[in-house]
Amino acid sequence: MKMPRVLLLNPPIHDFAAYDFWLKPYGLLSVGGRLRGRAELKLFDYLDRLHPAAQGEKLRKDIWGRGEFRNEPLDKPALFNAIPRRYHRFGLPRSAFRAFVEREGPFDFVLIQTVMTYWYPGVKESIEDIRAYSPNAKIVLGGVYATICHAHAQTIGADFVLDGLNLDPLWKFMKVEPNPSGLPVWDLYDTLDTGVLKLADGCPFKCTYCSVPQVYPTFHSRPMDRSLAELDFLIERGAKNAVFYDDALLYQPDKILVPFLKEAIKRGSRLNFHTPNALNARFISKELAELMVEAGFKIIYLGFESSAYEWQKKTGGKVYSHELKDAIENLCAAGAKIENIAAYLIMSHPNGDQQNVEESMRFANDLGIRVMLSEFSPIPGTPDGEMCRKWIDLDEPLTHSKTAFPIVFMGEEKVNRLKNLSRDLNAKLRIDQPGSSV
Ligand code: SF4
Repeated sequence: MKMPRVLLLNPPIHDFAAYDFWLKPYGLLSVGGRLRGRAELKLFDYLDRLHPAAQGEKLRKDIWGRGEFRNEPLDKPALFNAIPRRYHRFGLPRSAFRAFVEREGPFDFVLIQTVMTYWYPGVKESIEDIRAYSPNAKIVLGGVYATICHAHAQTIGADFVLDGLNLDPLWKFMKVEPNPSGLPVWDLYDTLDTGVLKLADGCPFKCTYCSVPQVYPTFHSRPMDRSLAELDFLIERGAKNAVFYDDALLYQPDKILVPFLKEAIKRGSRLNFHTPNALNARFISKELAELMVEAGFKIIYLGFESSAYEWQKKTGGKVYSHELKDAIENLCAAGAKIENIAAYLIMSHPNGDQQNVEESMRFANDLGIRVMLSEFSPIPGTPDGEMCRKWIDLDEPLTHSKTAFPIVFMGEEKVNRLKNLSRDLNAKLRIDQPGSSV
């Protein structure tokens, strides 16, 4: 029987700002892996900075696999008229996609990965282009937006919208029997600099502002032999960097991360490991820090959110100030470079008055690490997101924008003040620490 022709598509981003902090469509590539031997697979990743169509652009990048996306100005959706920021389209040009479909199409199915809820205009753009260039293809959406804003996602023109993690409805829709052992299709990239690993799904914490408990109702580790096979495959494909997409990478370390890292060391892995999702500082013991550094951890983001004890406690008690301090000491004693460690601090949280953002920034800065402000994005279904219905129409995903919401909630002047403070504090660190590679 003829195999279906399937396009895996990572859409462009329409937003005020976007930067490639190792953004890879790992879920989509994993679904592609389950289709190995069952479909004729092609990939178009609008966010692939190493794609031939992105060459020739002068874009900043660093040695760890992060960098600027190609971008072009775009008219703002009317809802953002009052937001004094420029809006852009990030990713490869539409013409590159058109040329790709003319060369490789037509397709029977197009599977589109969705991420941020307020990025749906980029998904819509892709749907329009597929309808124009490969009109008979069945279009499927999956991922975070498709799950959290399921009803909305059903209105933007796809044929099928997956809700959550269960892929059975997808196999039924496509009439295929999945391949349980197929590895993510990293081999569909011409050049691979950075890959993704995930040792477990979900998070045992229930922070009231976070969407993870909604998307993954329980925490469970993935089979170790599978994780190691994925590691081997990234090495084989020539990746230099591997980022962990785990939401709780350090939970139950003796069962999950420690055996994985020991195996990676045994295999002589030379991958640089990075953690774009915040690590929970509470779990970074002296021994674990030593193992992480020995295994090749380089860029380490820690979740901090606030130094205010009451705020921490009220939002889930993820980590307290003294735990952040201990983690930094353990990492640095093990040989991690302090300039490669940063803490996320949440801003524009609806209970922000209890959060002491400025004081929290200074606290982290006094410990010698950079501060990354992570603007609160109200997620429907989370306790803190639902609290925001009094200020915004939460059923319109554009209102979840992490650029627009802080301005709506706090006002532009306050947002600018916090951002300037964070920039000044980080600049001070860079002067004190010449040779920072970040
Ligand atoms: S610890 Fe992190 S991933 Fe887990 S619920 Fe809290 S914010 Fe979300």
